[in-house]
Amino acid sequence: MAMKSKVLIVGGTGYLGKRLVKASLAQGHETYVLHREEIGVDIEKVQMLLSFKQQGAHLVIGSFNDHQSLVKVVKLVDVVICAISGVHIRSHQILLQLKLVDAIKEAGNVKRFLPSEFGTDPARMENAMEPGRVTFDDKMVVRRAIEEAGIPFTYISANCFAGYFLGGLCQPGFILPSREQVRLLGDGNQKAIYVDEDDIATYSIKTIDDPRTLNKTVYIRPPQNILSQREVVQIWEKLIGKELLKSSISEQEFLAIMKEQDYAEQVGLTHYYHVCYEGCLANFEIGDGAEEASKLYPEVKYTTVEEYMTRYL
Ligand code: NDP
Repeated sequence: MAMKSKVLIVGGTGYLGKRLVKASLAQGHETYVLHREEIGVDIEKVQMLLSFKQQGAHLVIGSFNDHQSLVKVVKLVDVVICAISGVHIRSHQILLQLKLVDAIKEAGNVKRFLPSEFGTDPARMENAMEPGRVTFDDKMVVRRAIEEAGIPFTYISANCFAGYFLGGLCQPGFILPSREQVRLLGDGNQKAIYVDEDDIATYSIKTIDDPRTLNKTVYIRPPQNILSQREVVQIWEKLIGKELLKSSISEQEFLAIMKEQDYAEQVGLTHYYHVCYEGCLANFEIGDGAEEASKLYPEVKYTTVEEYMTRYL
């Protein structure tokens, strides 16, 4: 059997990053996690890193302000996965990855790089609205740098993180489902795709040694999880045994409210707009030069929307 690649996770203490570390270890990869000097005495992060070490990961010190430190850690591995922040209401550092790309280029040994994507495919969002398009534009800047440097890559388009979208019944600003009411975005009938974050990590790690995903985009579309907001609400109603009071927010109202919010909120709302009013995640067929994760890896028993939502009962 071929040797499993050694993996470096950058951004390993993050919301998705910690799941990537777990999945990499679970799939038997020798796993390295970047310990950024700058986290200093952030006790939560340090404790998390130590727990990774206890689980068998290697911690490697480096800094985005020290190119040679990045080159040195990249040289230890075959695959680099970056899960650096890219949500404006939390933190958005997507362009910092250009420094990582420089380090990977200089190191010259990396067989696969997965940049911090894990959402809507930015290549499909050239007409996205301001200000939220910044997320897609920045991710495309990183893609161009990767491709110009000739670094082998896989781009993971993970669609909606379940925690954000299912938790809030697809309503921006909510991450826990109400047992009383819900506001539908428009008619609530646009399909989107919801993926348990642990499954995103599992599928992502599956791709790294797979020749079928080399230099391709991999969409994660678990077939049972392609649902409209109304269908998500119905699943929740079935679980709680009660119908919610429903109202609706029109496209015009949504956009008007968006304009009154601060910049970071507007970025997030733009993304909800494209997903929930335009159906940008599910309104296209996966074409040549791309793959779909649940087809590539049918052995992964993904979490269905209903299973995911039982945690809120
Ligand atoms: P987090 O906000 O949890 O941050 C991830 C990590 O980024 C941090 O733990 C930290 O890692 C690193 N980081 C943060 N600031 C800096 C900095 N200044 N310098 C260097 N590193 C920094 O990220 P998420 O998990 O929320 O996002 C990861 C990816 O997932 C992004 O691309 C994002 O766009 C995408 N996403 C997609 C969603 C969807 O619904 N499809 C939803 C949410 C995110 P450390 O300290 O360990 O180095």
